Amino acid sequence: MTLSPAIVILGPSALATARRIQALYPQAVIHGLSGRIEADQAYADFGDTLRNLYRSGAPIIALCAAGIVIRSLASLLASKGAEPPVLAVAEDGSAVVPLLGGLGGVNRMAREIATALEVSAAITTSGELRFGTCLLDPPGGYALADIEQGKRFVSDLLGGERLRIEGNAPWLDRGKLPMADNGGRTLHITPSQRAARPDELLIHPRTLLALVDSADDLAARIGQAFEQAGLAQKSLAALLAPPALMTDKHLAQVAAEFAVPLRFIRPEDALPPQLQRSENLQLLQAASPEAAQNIGRPLGRLSVIGLGPGAAEHMTPAVRRALDEAQDLLGYETYVKMAEPLRDDQVRHCSDNREELQRARHAFELAASGRRVVVISSGDPGVFAMAAAVLEALEERAAPADWHAVELEVLPGVSAALATAAKAGAPLGHDFCLISLSDNLKPWAVIENRLDHAGAADLAMAFYNPISKARPWQLGRALDIVRTHRAPHTVVVLGRDIGRPAEALRVLSLGELIPEMVDMRTLVIIGSSQTRRFPRRDGGEWVYTPRSYPQP
Ligand code: SAH
Repeated sequence: MTLSPAIVILGPSALATARRIQALYPQAVIHGLSGRIEADQAYADFGDTLRNLYRSGAPIIALCAAGIVIRSLASLLASKGAEPPVLAVAEDGSAVVPLLGGLGGVNRMAREIATALEVSAAITTSGELRFGTCLLDPPGGYALADIEQGKRFVSDLLGGERLRIEGNAPWLDRGKLPMADNGGRTLHITPSQRAARPDELLIHPRTLLALVDSADDLAARIGQAFEQAGLAQKSLAALLAPPALMTDKHLAQVAAEFAVPLRFIRPEDALPPQLQRSENLQLLQAASPEAAQNIGRPLGRLSVIGLGPGAAEHMTPAVRRALDEAQDLLGYETYVKMAEPLRDDQVRHCSDNREELQRARHAFELAASGRRVVVISSGDPGVFAMAAAVLEALEERAAPADWHAVELEVLPGVSAALATAAKAGAPLGHDFCLISLSDNLKPWAVIENRLDHAGAADLAMAFYNPISKARPWQLGRALDIVRTHRAPHTVVVLGRDIGRPAEALRVLSLGELIPEMVDMRTLVIIGSSQTRRFPRRDGGEWVYTPRSYPQP
Protein backbone atom coordinates (compact mmCIF):
# COMPACT_ATOMS: atom_id res chain seq x y z
CA MET A 1 0.00 0.00 0.00
CA THR A 2 1.45 3.39 -0.93
CA LEU A 3 1.89 5.93 1.86
CA SER A 4 -0.07 9.16 2.01
CA PRO A 5 1.79 12.23 0.77
CA ALA A 6 3.36 14.67 3.23
CA ILE A 7 2.93 18.35 2.42
CA VAL A 8 5.69 20.30 4.15
CA ILE A 9 5.41 24.05 4.68
CA LEU A 10 7.56 26.65 6.41
CA GLY A 11 5.08 29.41 7.16
CA PRO A 12 1.54 30.81 6.90
CA SER A 13 2.04 32.11 3.35
CA ALA A 14 2.08 28.52 2.03
CA LEU A 15 -1.01 27.30 3.84
CA ALA A 16 -3.59 28.20 1.20
CA THR A 17 -1.69 26.33 -1.53
CA ALA A 18 -1.09 23.43 0.87
CA ARG A 19 -4.84 23.14 1.47
CA ARG A 20 -5.55 23.13 -2.27
CA ILE A 21 -3.12 20.25 -2.70
CA GLN A 22 -4.66 18.49 0.30
CA ALA A 23 -8.06 18.75 -1.38
CA LEU A 24 -6.54 16.70 -4.22
CA TYR A 25 -5.02 14.11 -1.83
CA PRO A 26 -7.39 14.06 1.17
CA GLN A 27 -5.09 11.66 3.03
CA ALA A 28 -2.14 14.05 2.85
CA VAL A 29 -0.88 15.48 6.13
CA ILE A 30 0.34 19.08 6.22
CA HIS A 31 3.51 19.45 8.30
CA GLY A 32 4.11 22.99 9.54
CA LEU A 33 7.15 24.53 11.24
CA SER A 34 6.31 24.65 14.91
CA GLY A 35 5.84 28.15 16.27
CA ARG A 36 5.35 29.66 12.82
CA ILE A 37 2.29 27.92 11.49
CA GLU A 38 -0.49 25.78 12.89
CA ALA A 39 -0.80 22.79 10.51
CA ASP A 40 -2.00 19.17 10.84
CA GLN A 41 1.33 18.21 12.34
CA ALA A 42 4.12 20.32 13.81
CA TYR A 43 7.81 19.76 13.17
CA ALA A 44 10.89 21.33 14.74
CA ASP A 45 13.60 20.85 12.10
CA PHE A 46 12.97 21.07 8.36
CA GLY A 47 15.95 18.96 7.24
CA ASP A 48 15.37 16.15 9.74
CA THR A 49 11.69 16.06 8.87
CA LEU A 50 12.34 15.82 5.16
CA ARG A 51 14.95 13.09 5.60
CA ASN A 52 12.70 11.05 7.90
CA LEU A 53 9.82 11.30 5.46
CA TYR A 54 12.10 10.32 2.58
CA ARG A 55 13.41 7.29 4.48
CA SER A 56 9.86 6.24 5.31
CA GLY A 57 9.08 6.23 1.58
CA ALA A 58 6.31 8.84 1.79
CA PRO A 59 5.76 11.08 -1.24
CA ILE A 60 6.99 14.59 -0.30
CA ILE A 61 5.44 17.82 -1.54
CA ALA A 62 7.57 20.66 -0.18
CA LEU A 63 6.21 24.18 -0.56
CA CYS A 64 9.54 25.96 -0.73
CA ALA A 65 12.55 26.54 -2.95
CA ALA A 66 13.73 23.45 -4.84
CA GLY A 67 17.27 24.18 -3.65
CA ILE A 68 16.35 23.81 0.01
CA VAL A 69 14.80 20.42 -0.70
CA ILE A 70 17.79 19.23 -2.71
CA ARG A 71 20.28 20.32 -0.06
CA SER A 72 18.23 18.70 2.71
CA LEU A 73 18.05 15.35 0.94
CA ALA A 74 21.52 15.40 -0.62
CA SER A 75 23.10 13.09 1.94
CA LEU A 76 20.52 10.40 1.20
CA LEU A 77 20.69 10.47 -2.57
CA ALA A 78 23.99 8.67 -3.10
CA SER A 79 22.67 5.33 -1.91
CA LYS A 80 20.44 3.77 -4.50
CA GLY A 81 17.18 2.51 -3.14
CA ALA A 82 13.50 2.93 -3.63
CA GLU A 83 12.97 6.63 -4.23
CA PRO A 84 9.67 8.19 -3.20
CA PRO A 85 8.31 11.04 -5.32
CA VAL A 86 9.68 14.42 -4.17
CA LEU A 87 8.26 17.68 -5.54
CA ALA A 88 8.92 21.34 -4.88
CA VAL A 89 5.89 23.59 -5.28
CA ALA A 90 6.08 27.39 -5.19
CA GLU A 91 4.24 28.53 -2.08
CA ASP A 92 1.87 30.68 -4.13
CA GLY A 93 1.08 27.65 -6.31
CA SER A 94 2.60 29.16 -9.45
CA ALA A 95 5.15 26.39 -10.13
CA VAL A 96 5.25 22.60 -9.68
CA VAL A 97 8.68 20.97 -10.00
CA PRO A 98 9.10 17.18 -9.86
CA LEU A 99 12.57 16.54 -8.39
CA LEU A 100 12.99 12.85 -7.57
CA GLY A 101 11.17 9.55 -7.88
CA GLY A 102 10.82 9.28 -11.64
CA LEU A 103 9.94 5.61 -11.30
CA GLY A 104 7.72 6.27 -8.32
CA GLY A 105 5.30 8.36 -10.36
CA VAL A 106 6.59 11.85 -9.57
CA ASN A 107 5.66 13.20 -13.00
CA ARG A 108 2.15 11.84 -12.68
CA MET A 109 1.80 13.61 -9.31
CA ALA A 110 3.30 16.80 -10.74
CA ARG A 111 0.68 16.81 -13.50
CA GLU A 112 -2.14 16.13 -11.04
CA ILE A 113 -1.03 18.96 -8.75
CA ALA A 114 -0.40 21.32 -11.65
CA THR A 115 -3.87 20.64 -13.03
CA ALA A 116 -5.39 21.36 -9.61
CA LEU A 117 -3.41 24.60 -9.33
CA GLU A 118 -4.12 25.53 -12.96
CA VAL A 119 -0.47 25.79 -13.96
CA SER A 120 1.73 23.46 -15.99
CA ALA A 121 4.16 21.02 -14.40
CA ALA A 122 7.88 21.49 -15.00
CA ILE A 123 8.38 18.04 -16.59
CA THR A 124 11.97 17.55 -17.70
CA THR A 125 12.07 13.82 -18.47
CA SER A 126 12.65 13.71 -22.22
CA GLY A 127 10.92 10.37 -22.91
CA GLU A 128 7.93 11.49 -20.97
CA LEU A 129 7.80 14.89 -22.67
CA ARG A 130 7.91 13.39 -26.09
CA PHE A 131 5.64 10.39 -25.54
CA GLY A 132 3.25 11.83 -22.95
CA THR A 133 3.85 8.87 -20.67
CA CYS A 134 6.67 7.19 -18.80
CA LEU A 135 7.13 3.80 -20.43
CA LEU A 136 9.27 2.72 -17.50
CA ASP A 137 6.60 3.44 -14.90
CA PRO A 138 3.70 1.17 -15.84
CA PRO A 139 0.58 1.34 -13.64
CA GLY A 140 -0.19 -0.91 -10.68
CA GLY A 141 -0.99 -4.26 -12.28
CA TYR A 142 2.13 -4.34 -14.46
CA ALA A 143 5.81 -4.92 -13.74
CA LEU A 144 8.81 -3.95 -15.82
CA ALA A 145 11.10 -6.95 -16.41
CA ASP A 146 14.39 -5.04 -16.46
CA ILE A 147 14.82 -1.36 -15.73
CA GLU A 148 18.33 -0.93 -17.19
CA GLN A 149 17.30 -2.50 -20.46
CA GLY A 150 14.22 -0.25 -20.35
CA LYS A 151 16.29 2.92 -20.18
CA ARG A 152 18.14 1.91 -23.36
CA PHE A 153 14.85 1.14 -25.03
CA VAL A 154 13.45 4.60 -24.33
CA SER A 155 16.61 6.30 -25.56
CA ASP A 156 16.38 4.25 -28.79
CA LEU A 157 12.83 5.57 -29.29
CA LEU A 158 14.04 9.11 -28.62
CA GLY A 159 16.74 8.44 -31.23
CA GLY A 160 14.08 7.78 -33.88
CA GLU A 161 13.24 4.08 -33.62
CA ARG A 162 9.60 3.09 -34.20
CA LEU A 163 7.45 1.04 -31.85
CA ARG A 164 5.11 -1.94 -32.14
CA ILE A 165 3.00 -3.15 -29.24
CA GLU A 166 2.31 -6.82 -28.73
CA GLY A 167 -0.17 -7.63 -26.03
CA ASN A 168 -2.56 -5.42 -24.15
CA ALA A 169 -1.29 -2.08 -22.78
CA PRO A 170 -4.52 -0.18 -22.14
CA TRP A 171 -2.83 2.69 -20.25
CA LEU A 172 -0.65 3.83 -23.16
CA ASP A 173 -1.71 6.78 -25.24
CA ARG A 174 -0.67 5.48 -28.67
CA GLY A 175 -1.26 8.88 -30.21
CA LYS A 176 1.98 10.26 -28.83
CA LEU A 177 4.13 7.17 -29.30
CA PRO A 178 6.13 6.67 -32.52
CA MET A 179 4.00 3.71 -33.63
CA ALA A 180 4.67 1.68 -36.79
CA ASP A 181 3.46 -1.82 -37.74
CA ASN A 182 6.94 -2.76 -38.85
CA GLY A 183 8.64 -0.88 -35.98
CA GLY A 184 12.13 -1.98 -35.01
CA ARG A 185 11.32 -1.87 -31.29
CA THR A 186 8.63 -3.97 -29.63
CA LEU A 187 6.79 -3.45 -26.39
CA HIS A 188 5.76 -6.89 -25.17
CA ILE A 189 3.08 -7.31 -22.54
CA THR A 190 3.35 -10.94 -21.60
CA PRO A 191 3.52 -13.21 -18.57
CA SER A 192 6.20 -15.31 -20.31
CA GLN A 193 9.58 -15.63 -18.66
CA ARG A 194 12.52 -14.88 -20.91
CA ALA A 195 15.47 -12.56 -21.17
CA ALA A 196 14.44 -9.35 -22.88
CA ARG A 197 15.92 -8.99 -26.35
CA PRO A 198 17.83 -5.76 -27.01
CA ASP A 199 15.03 -4.57 -29.29
CA GLU A 200 12.16 -5.09 -26.90
CA LEU A 201 10.71 -3.75 -23.68
CA LEU A 202 9.23 -6.53 -21.61
CA ILE A 203 6.38 -5.80 -19.24
CA HIS A 204 4.71 -8.53 -17.20
CA PRO A 205 1.00 -8.13 -16.46
CA ARG A 206 0.07 -9.35 -12.98
CA THR A 207 -2.58 -11.76 -14.18
CA LEU A 208 -1.46 -15.10 -12.75
CA LEU A 209 -2.89 -16.66 -9.62
CA ALA A 210 -1.46 -19.58 -7.69
CA LEU A 211 -4.27 -21.73 -6.33
CA VAL A 212 -2.93 -23.75 -3.41
CA ASP A 213 -4.43 -26.22 -1.01
CA SER A 214 -1.51 -26.61 1.34
CA ALA A 215 1.25 -24.31 2.54
CA ASP A 216 3.87 -27.07 2.79
CA ASP A 217 7.03 -26.22 0.90
CA LEU A 218 4.94 -23.68 -0.97
CA ALA A 219 7.58 -21.15 -2.03
CA ALA A 220 9.59 -23.86 -3.77
CA ARG A 221 6.52 -25.33 -5.43
CA ILE A 222 5.47 -21.96 -6.78
CA GLY A 223 9.00 -21.43 -8.12
CA GLN A 224 8.91 -24.81 -9.87
CA ALA A 225 5.46 -24.30 -11.33
CA PHE A 226 6.50 -20.99 -12.87
CA GLU A 227 9.69 -22.48 -14.23
CA GLN A 228 7.98 -25.49 -15.77
CA ALA A 229 5.39 -23.29 -17.42
CA GLY A 230 8.00 -20.76 -18.61
CA LEU A 231 6.19 -17.93 -16.81
CA ALA A 232 7.58 -14.88 -15.03
CA GLN A 233 7.14 -14.69 -11.26
CA LYS A 234 6.62 -10.94 -11.65
CA SER A 235 3.28 -11.86 -13.22
CA LEU A 236 2.05 -13.40 -9.99
CA ALA A 237 -0.97 -11.37 -8.83
CA ALA A 238 -2.06 -13.23 -5.70
CA LEU A 239 -2.14 -16.52 -3.85
CA LEU A 240 -5.58 -18.14 -3.73
CA ALA A 241 -6.41 -20.53 -0.93
CA PRO A 242 -9.43 -22.20 0.62
CA PRO A 243 -10.89 -20.56 3.78
CA ALA A 244 -9.54 -23.47 5.86
CA LEU A 245 -6.05 -21.97 5.42
CA MET A 246 -7.05 -18.51 6.68
CA THR A 247 -5.16 -18.93 9.94
CA ASP A 248 -2.12 -20.61 8.34
CA LYS A 249 0.92 -18.54 9.29
CA HIS A 250 3.21 -20.17 6.77
CA LEU A 251 0.86 -19.31 3.92
CA ALA A 252 0.85 -15.66 5.03
CA GLN A 253 4.66 -15.70 5.09
CA VAL A 254 4.90 -17.04 1.56
CA ALA A 255 2.52 -14.37 0.30
CA ALA A 256 4.68 -11.73 2.01
CA GLU A 257 7.81 -13.27 0.47
CA PHE A 258 6.37 -12.96 -3.02
CA ALA A 259 4.93 -9.54 -2.10
CA VAL A 260 1.47 -10.51 -3.33
CA PRO A 261 -1.90 -10.46 -1.57
CA LEU A 262 -3.44 -13.56 -0.15
CA ARG A 263 -7.04 -14.17 -1.16
CA PHE A 264 -9.54 -16.81 -0.15
CA ILE A 265 -12.02 -18.51 -2.39
CA ARG A 266 -15.43 -19.80 -1.51
CA PRO A 267 -17.07 -22.71 -3.32
CA GLU A 268 -19.31 -20.32 -5.25
CA ASP A 269 -16.41 -18.26 -6.67
CA ALA A 270 -15.88 -18.65 -10.40
CA LEU A 271 -12.22 -19.25 -11.20
CA PRO A 272 -10.28 -18.22 -14.30
CA PRO A 273 -8.85 -20.90 -16.63
CA GLN A 274 -6.02 -23.11 -15.51
CA LEU A 275 -2.59 -22.76 -17.12
CA GLN A 276 -0.53 -25.31 -15.27
CA ARG A 277 -1.15 -27.94 -12.70
CA SER A 278 1.27 -29.66 -10.35
CA GLU A 279 0.94 -31.31 -6.97
CA ASN A 280 -1.33 -29.23 -4.70
CA LEU A 281 -0.86 -26.21 -6.93
CA GLN A 282 -2.52 -24.75 -10.01
CA LEU A 283 -1.58 -21.62 -11.91
CA LEU A 284 -4.61 -19.73 -13.20
CA GLN A 285 -4.69 -16.87 -15.66
CA ALA A 286 -7.10 -13.99 -15.18
CA ALA A 287 -8.20 -11.85 -18.13
CA SER A 288 -6.54 -8.69 -16.78
CA PRO A 289 -4.64 -7.45 -13.71
CA GLU A 290 -7.87 -5.87 -12.42
CA ALA A 291 -9.77 -9.14 -12.83
CA ALA A 292 -6.99 -10.96 -10.97
CA GLN A 293 -7.46 -8.70 -7.91
CA ASN A 294 -11.17 -9.42 -7.74
CA ILE A 295 -11.12 -13.17 -7.39
CA GLY A 296 -11.95 -14.48 -3.93
CA ARG A 297 -11.70 -12.12 -1.00
CA PRO A 298 -8.84 -10.93 1.18
CA LEU A 299 -8.23 -11.70 4.82
CA GLY A 300 -10.02 -9.07 6.83
CA ARG A 301 -8.30 -6.80 9.31
CA LEU A 302 -9.65 -5.22 12.45
CA SER A 303 -7.68 -2.37 14.02
CA VAL A 304 -8.86 -1.09 17.36
CA ILE A 305 -7.38 2.37 17.59
CA GLY A 306 -7.16 5.32 19.96
CA LEU A 307 -7.24 8.80 18.46
CA GLY A 308 -5.57 10.45 21.43
CA PRO A 309 -7.31 13.34 23.17
CA GLY A 310 -8.18 15.30 20.03
CA ALA A 311 -5.51 17.21 18.14
CA ALA A 312 -4.13 15.42 15.09
CA GLU A 313 -0.58 15.94 16.30
CA HIS A 314 -1.22 13.70 19.30
CA MET A 315 -2.36 10.85 17.09
CA THR A 316 0.30 8.21 16.44
CA PRO A 317 1.44 7.65 12.83
CA ALA A 318 0.39 3.97 13.15
CA VAL A 319 -3.18 5.09 13.92
CA ARG A 320 -3.20 7.56 11.03
CA ARG A 321 -2.06 4.78 8.69
CA ALA A 322 -4.76 2.39 9.94
CA LEU A 323 -7.37 5.11 9.37
CA ASP A 324 -6.06 5.80 5.88
CA GLU A 325 -6.20 2.13 4.97
CA ALA A 326 -9.64 1.48 6.48
CA GLN A 327 -12.65 0.61 4.38
CA ASP A 328 -15.09 0.69 7.30
CA LEU A 329 -14.99 2.87 10.41
CA LEU A 330 -17.06 2.23 13.51
CA GLY A 331 -17.51 4.53 16.47
CA TYR A 332 -19.44 7.41 17.93
CA GLU A 333 -20.06 10.10 15.37
CA THR A 334 -17.90 12.62 17.28
CA TYR A 335 -14.92 10.27 17.16
CA VAL A 336 -15.42 9.38 13.50
CA LYS A 337 -15.42 13.11 12.75
CA MET A 338 -12.22 13.50 14.78
CA ALA A 339 -10.64 10.84 12.54
CA GLU A 340 -10.96 13.07 9.45
CA PRO A 341 -9.73 13.60 6.78
CA LEU A 342 -11.48 10.52 5.36
CA ARG A 343 -12.29 9.59 1.79
CA ASP A 344 -15.77 9.29 0.30
CA ASP A 345 -15.24 5.59 -0.35
CA GLN A 346 -14.69 4.87 3.35
CA VAL A 347 -17.90 3.64 4.98
CA ARG A 348 -18.76 5.34 8.28
CA HIS A 349 -20.85 3.25 10.65
CA CYS A 350 -21.64 5.98 13.14
CA SER A 351 -23.87 4.86 15.92
CA ASP A 352 -24.94 6.20 19.22
CA ASN A 353 -25.32 2.59 20.08
CA ARG A 354 -24.25 2.30 23.69
CA GLU A 355 -24.06 -1.46 23.35
CA GLU A 356 -20.30 -1.86 22.90
CA LEU A 357 -20.36 -5.64 22.46
CA GLN A 358 -22.89 -5.22 19.68
CA ARG A 359 -20.57 -2.79 17.90
CA ALA A 360 -17.62 -5.13 18.42
CA ARG A 361 -19.54 -8.02 16.85
CA HIS A 362 -20.52 -5.85 13.91
CA ALA A 363 -16.85 -4.98 13.42
CA PHE A 364 -15.88 -8.66 13.37
CA GLU A 365 -18.63 -9.49 10.88
CA LEU A 366 -17.33 -6.82 8.50
CA ALA A 367 -13.69 -7.86 8.97
CA ALA A 368 -14.49 -11.55 8.52
CA SER A 369 -16.03 -10.72 5.14
CA GLY A 370 -12.59 -9.47 4.04
CA ARG A 371 -12.92 -5.74 4.83
CA ARG A 372 -10.32 -3.53 6.52
CA VAL A 373 -12.14 -2.26 9.57
CA VAL A 374 -11.21 0.31 12.21
CA VAL A 375 -12.97 0.66 15.56
CA ILE A 376 -12.44 4.16 16.90
CA SER A 377 -12.08 5.24 20.53
CA SER A 378 -10.84 8.53 21.86
CA GLY A 379 -7.66 8.54 23.93
CA ASP A 380 -6.42 4.99 24.30
CA PRO A 381 -8.65 2.13 23.12
CA GLY A 382 -7.71 0.02 26.13
CA VAL A 383 -8.72 2.66 28.73
CA PHE A 384 -12.50 2.53 29.37
CA ALA A 385 -13.03 2.02 25.66
CA MET A 386 -13.55 -0.46 22.85
CA ALA A 387 -10.50 -2.76 22.97
CA ALA A 388 -11.78 -4.83 25.88
CA ALA A 389 -15.23 -5.15 24.28
CA VAL A 390 -13.66 -6.35 21.03
CA LEU A 391 -11.68 -9.04 22.84
CA GLU A 392 -14.71 -10.04 24.84
CA ALA A 393 -16.71 -10.49 21.63
CA LEU A 394 -13.92 -12.65 20.19
CA GLU A 395 -13.69 -14.85 23.27
CA GLU A 396 -17.43 -15.54 23.30
CA ARG A 397 -18.26 -19.13 22.70
CA ALA A 398 -20.65 -18.15 19.95
CA ALA A 399 -17.95 -16.28 18.01
CA PRO A 400 -17.74 -17.80 14.50
CA ALA A 401 -14.44 -19.47 13.63
CA ASP A 402 -13.70 -16.97 10.84
CA TRP A 403 -13.54 -14.12 13.39
CA HIS A 404 -10.37 -15.76 14.71
CA ALA A 405 -8.84 -15.58 11.24
CA VAL A 406 -9.23 -11.79 11.16
CA GLU A 407 -5.96 -9.94 11.57
CA LEU A 408 -6.63 -8.16 14.86
CA GLU A 409 -4.50 -5.34 16.24
CA VAL A 410 -4.86 -2.81 19.06
CA LEU A 411 -3.08 0.50 18.45
CA PRO A 412 -2.46 2.66 21.53
CA GLY A 413 -3.26 6.32 21.93
CA VAL A 414 -2.65 9.13 24.42
CA SER A 415 -5.25 8.69 27.16
CA ALA A 416 -7.12 11.68 28.66
CA ALA A 417 -5.33 11.33 32.02
CA LEU A 418 -1.92 11.52 30.34
CA ALA A 419 -2.91 14.42 28.08
CA THR A 420 -4.37 16.37 31.03
CA ALA A 421 -1.42 15.58 33.27
CA ALA A 422 1.01 16.82 30.63
CA LYS A 423 -0.89 20.10 30.28
CA ALA A 424 -0.64 20.66 34.04
CA GLY A 425 2.96 19.47 34.38
CA ALA A 426 3.40 16.07 36.01
CA PRO A 427 0.69 15.39 38.62
CA LEU A 428 0.98 11.66 37.82
CA GLY A 429 4.76 11.72 38.29
CA HIS A 430 4.57 9.15 41.07
CA ASP A 431 2.23 6.17 41.67
CA PHE A 432 -1.34 6.74 40.53
CA CYS A 433 -4.54 4.96 39.55
CA LEU A 434 -7.24 5.47 36.91
CA ILE A 435 -10.83 5.05 38.04
CA SER A 436 -14.02 5.39 36.05
CA LEU A 437 -16.79 6.81 38.21
CA SER A 438 -19.44 5.34 35.94
CA ASP A 439 -21.56 2.72 37.66
CA ASN A 440 -23.21 1.69 34.40
CA LEU A 441 -20.93 -1.33 34.08
CA LYS A 442 -19.96 -2.03 37.70
CA PRO A 443 -21.74 -1.74 41.07
CA TRP A 444 -21.31 1.56 42.90
CA ALA A 445 -20.14 -0.32 46.01
CA VAL A 446 -17.07 -1.53 44.06
CA ILE A 447 -16.21 2.06 43.13
CA GLU A 448 -16.55 3.26 46.73
CA ASN A 449 -14.32 0.47 47.93
CA ARG A 450 -11.63 1.31 45.35
CA LEU A 451 -11.76 5.03 46.16
CA ASP A 452 -11.35 4.22 49.83
CA HIS A 453 -8.32 2.02 49.20
CA ALA A 454 -6.72 4.41 46.70
CA GLY A 455 -7.20 7.20 49.23
CA ALA A 456 -5.64 5.14 52.01
CA ALA A 457 -2.73 4.15 49.73
CA ASP A 458 -2.04 7.87 48.99
CA LEU A 459 -2.21 7.27 45.24
CA ALA A 460 -2.83 10.20 42.92
CA MET A 461 -6.12 9.47 41.10
CA ALA A 462 -7.54 10.27 37.69
CA PHE A 463 -11.32 10.09 37.41
CA TYR A 464 -12.82 9.21 34.01
CA ASN A 465 -16.57 9.58 33.37
CA PRO A 466 -16.80 11.72 36.52
CA ILE A 467 -20.41 12.87 36.15
CA SER A 468 -23.35 12.88 33.73
CA LYS A 469 -27.04 13.74 33.66
CA ALA A 470 -27.87 10.12 34.43
CA ARG A 471 -25.25 9.96 37.21
CA PRO A 472 -25.56 13.30 39.05
CA TRP A 473 -24.64 12.38 42.64
CA GLN A 474 -21.76 9.93 42.24
CA LEU A 475 -18.95 12.51 42.04
CA GLY A 476 -20.05 14.22 45.25
CA ARG A 477 -20.08 10.90 47.05
CA ALA A 478 -16.65 10.02 45.62
CA LEU A 479 -15.22 13.32 46.89
CA ASP A 480 -16.64 12.65 50.37
CA ILE A 481 -14.68 9.39 50.46
CA VAL A 482 -11.49 11.00 49.14
CA ARG A 483 -11.79 13.78 51.76
CA THR A 484 -11.62 11.23 54.58
CA HIS A 485 -8.01 10.58 53.44
CA ARG A 486 -6.81 13.91 51.97
CA ALA A 487 -6.43 17.41 53.39
CA PRO A 488 -8.43 20.33 51.85
CA HIS A 489 -5.23 21.83 50.34
CA THR A 490 -4.67 18.66 48.22
CA VAL A 491 -4.00 19.73 44.62
CA VAL A 492 -6.72 19.03 42.03
CA VAL A 493 -6.49 19.40 38.24
CA LEU A 494 -9.53 19.63 35.98
CA GLY A 495 -8.90 19.07 32.27
CA ARG A 496 -11.83 19.73 29.96
CA ASP A 497 -11.73 19.01 26.21
CA ILE A 498 -7.96 18.68 26.39
CA GLY A 499 -6.34 18.70 22.96
CA ARG A 500 -9.51 20.10 21.36
CA PRO A 501 -10.37 23.67 20.39
CA ALA A 502 -12.36 24.34 23.60
CA GLU A 503 -9.56 23.07 25.84
CA ALA A 504 -9.67 24.35 29.45
CA LEU A 505 -7.35 23.52 32.32
CA ARG A 506 -7.95 24.48 35.91
CA VAL A 507 -5.83 23.98 39.02
CA LEU A 508 -7.53 24.20 42.40
CA SER A 509 -7.66 22.54 45.81
CA LEU A 510 -9.76 19.64 47.01
CA GLY A 511 -11.44 22.04 49.46
CA GLU A 512 -12.60 24.26 46.57
CA LEU A 513 -13.77 21.46 44.30
CA ILE A 514 -17.54 21.10 43.85
CA PRO A 515 -19.25 18.71 41.38
CA GLU A 516 -20.80 21.65 39.47
CA MET A 517 -17.28 22.48 38.14
CA VAL A 518 -17.15 19.13 36.36
CA ASP A 519 -18.97 17.60 33.38
CA MET A 520 -18.64 14.45 31.32
CA ARG A 521 -15.99 16.05 29.10
CA THR A 522 -13.75 16.66 32.11
CA LEU A 523 -10.98 14.55 33.50
CA VAL A 524 -10.39 15.01 37.23
CA ILE A 525 -6.97 14.48 38.80
CA ILE A 526 -6.77 14.38 42.59
CA GLY A 527 -3.18 14.71 43.77
CA SER A 528 -1.54 12.58 46.44
CA SER A 529 -0.43 14.14 49.73
CA GLN A 530 2.89 14.98 47.97
CA THR A 531 1.51 16.72 44.88
CA ARG A 532 2.70 20.33 44.65
CA ARG A 533 1.82 23.51 42.70
CA PHE A 534 3.72 26.72 41.91
CA PRO A 535 3.18 29.73 39.65
CA ARG A 536 4.25 29.64 36.02
CA ARG A 537 5.19 32.58 33.85
CA ASP A 538 1.85 32.82 32.00
CA GLY A 539 -0.11 33.37 35.23
CA GLY A 540 -1.16 29.71 35.51
CA GLU A 541 0.37 27.10 37.75
CA TRP A 542 2.57 24.05 37.35
CA VAL A 543 1.52 20.90 39.17
CA TYR A 544 3.75 17.94 39.88
CA THR A 545 4.13 14.95 42.13
CA PRO A 546 7.82 14.51 42.99
CA ARG A 547 9.60 11.31 41.98
CA SER A 548 10.75 10.65 45.53
CA TYR A 549 8.88 10.41 48.80
CA PRO A 550 10.26 12.11 51.93
CA GLN A 551 12.31 9.57 53.91
CA PRO A 552 10.76 8.73 57.31
N1 SAH B 1 -10.52 5.96 26.04
C1 SAH B 1 -10.60 7.31 26.57
C2 SAH B 1 -11.52 7.43 27.78
C3 SAH B 1 -12.96 7.19 27.48
S1 SAH B 1 -13.98 7.42 28.89
C4 SAH B 1 -9.17 7.76 26.94
O1 SAH B 1 -8.26 6.91 27.02
O2 SAH B 1 -8.98 8.95 27.13
C5 SAH B 1 -14.56 9.06 28.62
C6 SAH B 1 -14.02 10.01 29.67
O3 SAH B 1 -12.68 10.31 29.36
C7 SAH B 1 -14.72 11.34 29.71
O4 SAH B 1 -15.87 11.29 30.53
C8 SAH B 1 -13.65 12.25 30.30
O5 SAH B 1 -13.58 12.04 31.69
C9 SAH B 1 -12.38 11.65 29.72
N2 SAH B 1 -11.94 12.35 28.50
C10 SAH B 1 -11.89 11.85 27.25
N3 SAH B 1 -11.37 12.74 26.38
C11 SAH B 1 -11.07 13.84 27.11
C12 SAH B 1 -10.49 15.11 26.79
N4 SAH B 1 -10.11 15.40 25.54
N5 SAH B 1 -10.33 16.00 27.79
C13 SAH B 1 -10.69 15.70 29.04
N6 SAH B 1 -11.23 14.52 29.40
C14 SAH B 1 -11.43 13.60 28.45
